[in-house]
Amino acid sequence: MRIEQLGDRVPEVAVVGSIHGDEPCGRDGIEAVLADPPEVNTPVKFIIANEAALEANQRYLDTDLNRSFPGDADSESHETRLAVELAAELQDCTVLSLHSTQSYEGLFALVDDLTSEMEELCSALSVDAVVQTKGANEGRLFATVDSVVEVECGYQGSAEAAENAEKVIREFLAATGVTAGPPLQRDDPLPVFQLGEPIPKAAADQYEVFVRNFEQVPEGDPVAAADDETVVAEEPFHPILLSANGYEDVFGFTADRIGLLD
Ligand SMILES: [Zn+2]
Repeated sequence: MRIEQLGDRVPEVAVVGSIHGDEPCGRDGIEAVLADPPEVNTPVKFIIANEAALEANQRYLDTDLNRSFPGDADSESHETRLAVELAAELQDCTVLSLHSTQSYEGLFALVDDLTSEMEELCSALSVDAVVQTKGANEGRLFATVDSVVEVECGYQGSAEAAENAEKVIREFLAATGVTAGPPLQRDDPLPVFQLGEPIPKAAADQYEVFVRNFEQVPEGDPVAAADDETVVAEEPFHPILLSANGYEDVFGFTADRIGLLD
């Protein structure tokens, strides 16, 4: 875990990148900001979380760090130990955690609960949507630290994801008052979704998805296929984090659209 800071005193704002080692955009976005640092009014800490997994270009060495919180300092798992250290660093901070996916090229935010603090924060980030994960947070950073917004920055390993990460870090610093610039003013209202159930994926040689993330799937439409076995929508829903090969045993998740943020 590498920790850097801009400004003096104890930070109440933190940016975390590369909790997953196969998502270099967080590290790259942080390094780009540190290479061209903004003037800060209040201190901010930057953490490149899972350096060992980054080095190995693996999502994790032993266990998924974002399923390992609150962690255990005596564990044999690298990530279970790291979770304790990372949670301690972030405990009293408002946190931006940067991720990337195999499912969506744009940016979107995830929050545990869309409190007024999180509404204000998400409204000042150039994301396409906000996903509330309430009720599905076991082991995630959300379960351990109170004020966290996660942003998915685009496709894993892409140059765009790294550029998006840098952009969203700078927007987050303005939104939290770390930097003086006015927070981003969005033109469009921001759709809000509640995360639902995982869409299970059977073991197969070939996987396919037929629908687009965040766009409503009507009841009865084919969603995805594992070899010849097609998954059909039992009721209308909005797919989230849906991809053919992103996860081992799920295609992605269902979600309900629950509102708009102005
Ligand atoms: Zn991730």
